[in-house]
This record gives sequence, C-alpha cells and structure tokens, in this order.
Amino acid sequence: MNEPLSSYRAADPVAENDRDGDADGIADLRRGTGPLAVSGSAPSLARPIDVSIVIPMLNEVENLRELVESVGAALEPTGWRFELILVDDGSHDGSAALLRRLAEDVDWLRPVVLARNYGQSIALQAGFDRAQGRYVVTLDADLQNDPADIPAMVERLEQDPEIDVISGWRQNRQDKALSRRLPSVLANRLISRATGVHLHDYGCALKAYRRAIIERIHLYGELHRFIPSLASEAGARIVEVPVRHHPRTRGTSKYGIDRTFRVVLDLVLVVFFLRYRQRPLHAFGGLGLWLGVPGGAILAYLLALKLLGEDIGQRPLLLTGVILVLIGAQLIVAGLTGELLIRLYHEGGRRPQYHTREPIDEHRRTRSRVRKPMHGDASR
Ligand code: UDP
Ligand code: MG
Repeated sequence: MNEPLSSYRAADPVAENDRDGDADGIADLRRGTGPLAVSGSAPSLARPIDVSIVIPMLNEVENLRELVESVGAALEPTGWRFELILVDDGSHDGSAALLRRLAEDVDWLRPVVLARNYGQSIALQAGFDRAQGRYVVTLDADLQNDPADIPAMVERLEQDPEIDVISGWRQNRQDKALSRRLPSVLANRLISRATGVHLHDYGCALKAYRRAIIERIHLYGELHRFIPSLASEAGARIVEVPVRHHPRTRGTSKYGIDRTFRVVLDLVLVVFFLRYRQRPLHAFGGLGLWLGVPGGAILAYLLALKLLGEDIGQRPLLLTGVILVLIGAQLIVAGLTGELLIRLYHEGGRRPQYHTREPIDEHRRTRSRVRKPMHGDASR
C-alpha cells in the first residue's frame, strides 16, 4: 500500500470549451489546475483497490465538489489505491449531473445514480455492492464528517487484526442541542442497552470496515443507524474512535425529529433480529406458550366445572380462555413458519449460518455473486 496514487486523466481538450463561466470549477479540474489535481502515472489496473469510500448523497450539489476534493486531499498522500463510490439517491438538484461530470476527470470517482430516492440505507447498500477495496469507509456527503479522519481509521484496521469495524464518535458535535443531540444521547443509550453493543455515537456516519463484514450485512429500510449492531451479529469486533465534526454549512438535513419513532420501531426489529433470527420459534412460540398455557388452564377449569354440572356458557372466562388458546396456537404456528423460512434462507440461498474469523483478516477477493458452499465461511 505504498505506491503513489494518481487521480486525474490527462487534461481534456473538451475543457477548453468550459473556460468561461464555469461556476463549479469543472474546467479547472479538467485542466488539472484545481485543488484535486495531482501529477503522476495512471494507477496500475492490476493493482487491487485498498480502500473504498462509500458516500450516499441526496441533494448535496453545493457540497459535492468540495467533498470530492477533500476526499482526494485526505487519501492521495497515503499512497493507497482508493475509490470513492458516490451514490446519488434520487437527487433533484443537479447533483447527479455534476457527479457524472466530475467523474469524467477523476479516476477514482465512481458515480452510482439510483433511479429514484430509496433512502440512505439502500443508497449505502448500493455502494457496498460495488465496493472493491479491502477496507470500506462510509461518511456523509454534507461535509459534517471530515475525510481527514479516514487515513488513521484505515491504518488502525491495517495494524490491528483484532478489530473489524471502527465507528466514529463525533467530538464537539455541531448540531442543535435539543432537537438533535439530546435525542441522540437517549437513542445511543437505548440502542446500546437493547442490543448489547455499547457505543456513544450510533449516529456517526463515519465508519471503517473490513470488507468481509460489509459483505455479511444487508441493509433494509433505515437500518443504517444500526450497522454496528448488525455487524456485531455478523461476528465483528468494534471499537469507537473520536472523530471531528463540522456544522452543516450548505444544504439541509434530510431528517426531522419524526425519525425518533422510526428509530424505536427499527430498534424492536434489530433486537428481534439479533436475538431470534436463528430461532424464531423461541420468540413466537415462547410468547405463544405464555398465552396458550394459561388459556388452556382456564378451559380445563371450565371443563371441570361443566362436568360437575355447572353452566359455563355465559361466563366471560370462557371467551378469555378460547382467545388465549387461539392466539397462542397462532403464535406457535408463526414461529414454526419462521423456522421454515430461516432454513429456506440458509439452505436455499446457500448462505452460511456462521462465519469464521480467518477470512475477515485475509479477505482480498473482489465481491462475487457466485454461490458458495455452506461449509466454513462463504462470507455471504
Ligand atoms: N441521504 C441520502 N438519502 C436520503 C437521505 C439522506 O442519501 O434519503 C444522505 C445525505 O445526502 C447525507 C447523508 O445521507 O449524505 C445523511 O443525511 P443528513 O446529513 O441529511 O442527515 P443528518 O446528518 O442530518 O442526520
Ligand atoms: Mg448530516
């Protein structure tokens, strides 16, 4: 990981047409005079990518150019071969067009333009699906995270084979106290307690992973906030490191306080996932027994009364007993269906139920969709 990087193709004659009135400075980039420009030879095609930086982006046109520049400024001096996968998540402010134009001249910039707005989690997943680096780093596009923190995080993963995920912990967080920081403190405590993965800052987008871990997790809905919990379930060892945080100076936040409710629902999902994914019968069936057994006892009691000649037809207890037994039976059936589904998931999709440690550290291959046998770690 010590070959120098190059970033731009040779100056493009087309840029001459842009010389006047180029508000976003693309022409400067093309001419190689912009801040991103570096000299040097083109990267060897054979050389594998060391670091993939994945950034989801929705309507961040004002931040985009500076973002690309700052990633370049942070990563180029490292000598690592890197790629910046910028995923446009259905922006309607011209972000996608600017992204494509920038990518014409920046070798390491790989644009992914989604067909519509899918949300931050799916946008991240789209980036993960394309990431080729041994290490994958995520951050936000709004310049609140500082790409200058990336090299130290990657270096730590490189140096310490005991660590699989490094999660940023924003120091001096530059967000509103009441609407952002307070809910965040409460959410971090709640999520840490509920999932058993103790972090101070679940909301920090700046994180670094070994790619094997990324390949094991699948993001749905808005589960990006729970990646450390999901990674832990996938066997990752996680540490938290302090990172810088800047105020959002351009563009607007895509989330309001209403996300709180969604986070609570997602927490229920993640806790269920962490505890019962491999044994749904214990979750549903357990609850089913808690309801069904008392219901059965009630019905047995009423049956005894009936046999003794009492009239039980009008008793509310009869309805209670019947309802409890029915719900209990339904839940047990739901649990059994879950057991069938988890078998289908693992056996039908040839996905392993477990992962071993070794491939995390030695993982170098590019992502392959080829189905692997179930034995050992297929990383999928
Ligand atoms: N984002 C996205 N799709 C969405 C919402 C947000 O790709 O539907 C991106 C957004 O452009 C930013 C990151 O996700 O890069 C985090 O969003 P934002 O900064 O608005 O969230 P906040 O930091 O306010 O929690
Ligand atoms: Mg932000």
